[in-house]
Amino acid sequence: MAIQVAIDGPAGAGKSTVAKLVAKQLGVKYIDTGAMYRAVGWLVLTKNMDAKNEEEVLRLAESSRFRLTDSGIEVNGFHLKNEIRTEQISALASSIARLGGVREVLVDKQRQLAGEQSVVMDGRDVGTHILPNANIKIFLTASVEKRVERRFKELKKKGHNPSLNTLREEIIQRDYNDKNRRFAPLTRASDAVLLDTTDLTTKQVVDQIIQICRTKLGGGE
Ligand code: C5P
Repeated sequence: MAIQVAIDGPAGAGKSTVAKLVAKQLGVKYIDTGAMYRAVGWLVLTKNMDAKNEEEVLRLAESSRFRLTDSGIEVNGFHLKNEIRTEQISALASSIARLGGVREVLVDKQRQLAGEQSVVMDGRDVGTHILPNANIKIFLTASVEKRVERRFKELKKKGHNPSLNTLREEIIQRDYNDKNRRFAPLTRASDAVLLDTTDLTTKQVVDQIIQICRTKLGGGE
């Protein structure tokens, strides 16, 4: 039986770190849907396009080929890692994610990538929209301060030099964009388990999710 685990939540709640580890423990594929919005943002930036021109961005998303790899994402043959983790690309991805047509195209591609196989997929609309029939749905959250602190450490580790105040403003702005957009806004699916990670370590969160998987799947993985 295919196991599909949907992990949603706001920026900095720890989704990608946790989702990657859960996928590894379950021995299934990990799909980072945010990386696809970021990759489109990177293409828009490198092609000097206007991110608000929905028609052009839609054409670009439609015609692009995405491949998720262990170390990042490949778009049209370009292998992207740290270059899509900058705050500039975060803001671009968040603004592109508001375009309904672009979302439809990416959601389609995300469903194709998952297919019928077992996956752990993380994003904002996985449990509510991309994989509404996922066996396990988790909604990860954490306080704004904790999320700012995590993003700060993550960016520092990657060699960036962010300011805490700017990061806080950006996270609040992205939360606002994600929750208030017209198409597939960030919201917890009614059947998702809410996990507040503010005072939990990564290992504790991963262990809890694996435990939820075991319970839901009746002891089997
Ligand atoms: O998860 P990550 O921070 O990499 O996502 C980048 C941006 O892409 C988010 O701020 C969000 O606006 C958007 N996104 C989305 N739906 C998803 C995944 C990401 O709207 N499923």
